[in-house]
Amino acid sequence: MKIEFYRHNLNNDDKKEAQRILDSLFLTTGDSVAEFENKLAKYTFNKYALGVTSCTEALFLGLKYFDIKKGDEVITTPMSFVSTANSIEYCDAKPVFVDIEEKTGNINIDNIEAVITSNTKAIIPVHLYGQMCDMKRLKEIAMKNNLKIIEDSAHCIEGNRDGVKPGQLGDIACYSFYATKNITCGEGGAITCNNQDIYDWIKRARLHGISKSAADRYTKRYEHYDMEFLGFKANMTNIDAALLIHQIDRIEELLVAKENIAKKYNDGLSKNPHISIPKMLPNSKHARHIYTIWVNPQKRDEYMHQLQDMGIGVAVNFRPIHLMKYYREKYGYKPGDFPVAEKIGNSSITIPFYPGLKNEEIDYVINSINKIVIQ
Ligand SMILES: *Cc1c(COP(=O)(O)O)cnc(C)c1O
Repeated sequence: MKIEFYRHNLNNDDKKEAQRILDSLFLTTGDSVAEFENKLAKYTFNKYALGVTSCTEALFLGLKYFDIKKGDEVITTPMSFVSTANSIEYCDAKPVFVDIEEKTGNINIDNIEAVITSNTKAIIPVHLYGQMCDMKRLKEIAMKNNLKIIEDSAHCIEGNRDGVKPGQLGDIACYSFYATKNITCGEGGAITCNNQDIYDWIKRARLHGISKSAADRYTKRYEHYDMEFLGFKANMTNIDAALLIHQIDRIEELLVAKENIAKKYNDGLSKNPHISIPKMLPNSKHARHIYTIWVNPQKRDEYMHQLQDMGIGVAVNFRPIHLMKYYREKYGYKPGDFPVAEKIGNSSITIPFYPGLKNEEIDYVINSINKIVIQ
């Protein structure tokens, strides 16, 4: 059997919607982007949403809104994709890593206050695998220390915790529509927020800081634009938005399908004493982005290769950021600095997990893993 690591869920509705844009005049940011933004804002119960080119850009624009710059420190987790910390580097600020909690892999909030200095300006929590951080506690710490919160919600559009969704307690939430994410247009991202000033600024900052978008200039009577500040280039296109519009309509359906697969994986793998899985918190709705198991770190790579030999696609989410060459060399990080993140980073195997997985494929994955993970 050959089981791909990921298969997207684009269907005929999505293709037709994209075809409609391709047959139209207006390929870049316009009505389809606005329609997607409305849907995303509504779905996440946030007042505003803005489509951008990636979650990395979304994080960067969020930090830029808060004027994060050289000399500033931003607290984040080493257990994420590199883009979380990279967005801080792009601002010439310093990422300050805090180790994670063992049960979920999310940033350990107990460890945050110890690293706050007079230079600390913001926190970027990551809702790892789709399960949210404790935003209520994080918000209390942020308010007490006058810090901004920019949520890396690349794994979590659908989730909530204690009734709180991404963007509701954080100042800004950032999403990804990269090729393997829960909804995708190949490459893409968005922010949501509830503050009009943030919305107005990022809306311009995503397009050079100019006062009129191409849609404003060309679809109506020509109007001159001004450039009010130095912005960036990160606006989402109508083609991307068209691919996303119906996926957001289907997002709860897709989640139910993933919930069912997760249940089968949980049942099939949790009895194996050599496998641990992240703990599901009771008052939390998991966005079910990826399904990661934790195995013996001495055997992890061997197991991954064996699974690949059996035709099963696998990945590692994630090797901790502080041990990447760039971060080791720039900041002198070394093994042992964030032991929980390192332990999970060395134990993780992410397995195929998408609504299109068939029952026999799920069973094959479970049986193959149980056959090889025996110590
Ligand atoms: C995918 C991912 C990103 C980056 O998203 P892009 O849209 O590719 O920039 C950021 N953070 C996490 C946790 C991710 O998994």
